[in-house]
Amino acid sequence: MNTTLIAMGIACLVVVGLIVNLGVLSLLSGAFHFLFGQPKFDILKSEGGDTSFAFGFRWNNAREPAKFDKIRLRLFNPFGSPSQVDVVSEFGAKDSDFGADVNFGPGFKDILSASGLDNSTMEIEVVSQKSGITHYFKMKTRKFLETYRAAEQTATEFNDKHGYVKTKPVYQSVTQSFIADAIPESDKPKALRIASNPMFAAEFAAGAGAGEAAVENFSVAKVWIEDGCIVCNACEGIFPEVFDVTEDNCVIRPDAPLIDGLKILEAAEACPTEVIKFDKAN
Ligand code: SF4
Repeated sequence: MNTTLIAMGIACLVVVGLIVNLGVLSLLSGAFHFLFGQPKFDILKSEGGDTSFAFGFRWNNAREPAKFDKIRLRLFNPFGSPSQVDVVSEFGAKDSDFGADVNFGPGFKDILSASGLDNSTMEIEVVSQKSGITHYFKMKTRKFLETYRAAEQTATEFNDKHGYVKTKPVYQSVTQSFIADAIPESDKPKALRIASNPMFAAEFAAGAGAGEAAVENFSVAKVWIEDGCIVCNACEGIFPEVFDVTEDNCVIRPDAPLIDGLKILEAAEACPTEVIKFDKAN
């Protein structure tokens, strides 16, 4: 009887010991991740001009297998000038630690020349558009600018050091800036069908009810991508329900809605390599 009781007591102690150990291990793992597993953002030396910004981003891609393809800088400068600047740039999707040298357009110059930086902060977002993941970093703007000016390592050197394997050419597009880029002059008959292009001003004015006939929408029977896509993401940015830009190509989604022909036309017009083709429905 006594022997049975002793055996049961030992068994209980072993079980309790196991549970406590598992709890401690779990706590240690959480603490380890908190201390060493957080994504890291490095400001690097850009090899572009004064509208360019280079950075490095490292994260645990085994835990978070996302592809990051967009960066956003937001200056909050309540007591200085300008009081706010918001710039965004997209780049080829990266699925492991990487460095990138992106172009933010003229808006970035406003950040570099901002004055009255007391209480000014810089927020940085690194975004995976497909996975809907955003990592945020925040620092004093003075610290941001000091680090930017003192940076010595380029994105290429960063990638060499961290072993990023570039699987495709990197193309960038400035997608948002407070200051619009001028529309490039061209003698080609083809031009971007956007509201700020004088060539299409009347068309957009008509759409807004300014008196001329509005452009009629149409359905599309078939849309496809020919060879030559440079995975710039422009089409997906315009019509994500139809265009799916993958790691090295662009494909049409199987359930793509083909009733908004004007939007498909807009994507085709915006495609820098003109590989988006479609047939109108009868
Ligand atoms: S199809 Fe054209 S717009 Fe779309 S990703 Fe490819 S190159 Fe860019």
